[in-house]
Amino acid sequence: MKFVNSYYKPGKQIISLQVLNQKVSKNFKKASKYIYDLYCPSCHKARLSYVNKTANKKAYLRTVRNSKHKKSCRYNFVTVSKRYTKQYFETLSSTQVQAKMLSVIRSLSKRKNSSKKAKRISRNIIANLFTLPAKKNKTSHVKILRQKKLNGYLRKNQLQNKLFLFYGQDLYLKTSNKKTVKNFDYLELHKNSSSKIYVRVPLPITMSNTLKSNINSINNGKKYTFIAIGRLKFLKNYSPDLILINADALIFQ
Ligand SMILES: [Zn+2]
Repeated sequence: MKFVNSYYKPGKQIISLQVLNQKVSKNFKKASKYIYDLYCPSCHKARLSYVNKTANKKAYLRTVRNSKHKKSCRYNFVTVSKRYTKQYFETLSSTQVQAKMLSVIRSLSKRKNSSKKAKRISRNIIANLFTLPAKKNKTSHVKILRQKKLNGYLRKNQLQNKLFLFYGQDLYLKTSNKKTVKNFDYLELHKNSSSKIYVRVPLPITMSNTLKSNINSINNGKKYTFIAIGRLKFLKNYSPDLILINADALIFQ
């Protein structure tokens, strides 16, 4: 596990890897006061070590061997590969996938306007719903699907081709049809009813009847909560496409 930030205990502050690199290159002796007192930026419990750069490798931060994170620390969880998640979703029935998506929607609508504590609980519920079993004999770590809120600018270098549970609130939905050889239908996500397309979802060719009827009854002036599992494909001079992991991995309300 690599870190981009660290917690410097004596100063009670978060120091980024970038700042550490600057300190080290300026004056290693002075920087050593920092680099021997670094902890996990999330739980502040596990010790981190700063591994200096070499001729062909950049400097990085990693957990010191046998140094433990707090049980609830997010760095205890290993995020899953695309292939593994896809395989896992193939073992679920379409009803099971839809049930999971529905729980996320419920949890999100409860989260809105609620207290900090309720928000944390709902975040945990969502994380648990998408906790995937670890592969046998490989590691005892629990695997979770990354989550990304659909608001603001979507960074290509962070999101491109990685699998996420995407969720958005107060989004406007529209459908469109691209007249190509395949005659593809799209679901468009807009941040304002009149704004340009934010994200475009190519719709699965075989959709469940529920999804089909939901799409047919979209109200262009209404704000929706939207959830999908998939990856973003960035297109030149255009909004990114959200490629669904499977035909059931899309829900809105
Ligand atoms: Zn930690």
